[in-house]
Amino acid sequence: MKTSGIKLNWPLIGNDHIFEFLAKSLAKKNVSGSFIFSGPANIGKTTAAYYFAQSLVCEAKDSPVLPCGQCPSCQQAVKGIHGDIYLIKKPADKKNISIEQVRDFIRSLSLSSFLNSYKIGIIKGAEHLSESAVNALLKTLEEPKAKVVVILTVTDFEVLPETIISRSQILRFRPATGDAIYDDLVKNHRASRSQAKNFSRLAAGRPALALKFLQDESYYQDYEADVRSFMDFLNPDLNQRFKAIENIMGEKPGGQESVKSAGKIIDIWQNLARDLVLLELDLVDLVQHQAFSKELAASKNKLSLKSLLNLISALKQAKGYIGANVNPKLALENVAVSV
Ligand SMILES: [Zn+2]
Repeated sequence: MKTSGIKLNWPLIGNDHIFEFLAKSLAKKNVSGSFIFSGPANIGKTTAAYYFAQSLVCEAKDSPVLPCGQCPSCQQAVKGIHGDIYLIKKPADKKNISIEQVRDFIRSLSLSSFLNSYKIGIIKGAEHLSESAVNALLKTLEEPKAKVVVILTVTDFEVLPETIISRSQILRFRPATGDAIYDDLVKNHRASRSQAKNFSRLAAGRPALALKFLQDESYYQDYEADVRSFMDFLNPDLNQRFKAIENIMGEKPGGQESVKSAGKIIDIWQNLARDLVLLELDLVDLVQHQAFSKELAASKNKLSLKSLLNLISALKQAKGYIGANVNPKLALENVAVSV
């Protein structure tokens, strides 16, 4: 991607408007102290934040390509061990990013840089910041320091407090086109045409998700299991529906892990229900799960169009319940009895 005299050596697809903006700030050496990268999950926000950080610490100051990938800083950054780049996120078993995590983060950013270069802090999933963590962070954002850059990634920036939004440069990431994802999988990741077709479609605009499908076999197998559980869930027999829920939720550990997996299952089920609606309406080209066309065809007549639409809204409601601390399994069982 050639822009403003600097070429970005970043493995990202789509969102050229964002990379052009960041390349310009790198070229002019005029970088804001706080950014919000906002957009759907798995769209490349964290990757972009990390490559931006690497470009800022890259030692090849007049390199036309950033990051150069060769200098000692770049090599450390690639290994994830650069002393001036910090990343924090919600621990898998916790509900929030805690104030302690944010205090450590701020302390690290306040130390002087190893090479008198930039220090970059990335908070992945800033929607998970606890209230006290937000307040601690706010003090840092209110008194920006030269050559310190904070990047928050978030699925929807509007959930963040106005005080943070107003102090940050907001960059909105949008889904990439299916064609762009297809080309990337074939050209840069040695996918076969049928893999590229299935995964680019399944990823629905999220390049990082398409790549996960291609490279992480067990992730794809889990996804397949979630798709099959939906087909079982469509069984008209209520006991069979409960069994499908038991199968998929029964083995999950409790607490935040099960909240997260229930959220993921609901997203997948909503999209599958939507695909069945599209099939009812003969809009086959828009179907996301074309990789599962056999399974979809077999389930096509299990629910009427009206019931499918009810199912989609019941799933949406269940997600709200889970967000309000209802037990995830109960929330799914509630969907089973209401459709
Ligand atoms: Zn470099």
